Amino acid sequence: MDKYTQWKIQELKEKKMIEQRGICAGCNKQFRIGDITQLAHILKQGKYTESKYSKDIIQHELNMKLTHSGYCNSSVQMNTNKTELVNEHIQMIENNGLN
Ligand SMILES: [Zn+2]
Repeated sequence: MDKYTQWKIQELKEKKMIEQRGICAGCNKQFRIGDITQLAHILKQGKYTESKYSKDIIQHELNMKLTHSGYCNSSVQMNTNKTELVNEHIQMIENNGLN
């Protein structure tokens, strides 16, 4: 990973930290100093989902939440069998403008 990408991730993590008021989207507990934080994808990232929903959707910041690693990260993931929920989520991202 290059320095610029690393910096963009850090910047987004800080933005999410403020938006979520320091709360993990997985366990709803306050992050503590030293906790490892991750940007968890709501629609799972990967070649399959990127080709199905587009990379712009998958890598959009609205498709991400700040979580602890492990269980917290996977618990924000949307079940893609729930087509209606998935479509609503994609619509919400599109309405907010693709970056
Ligand atoms: Zn958590």
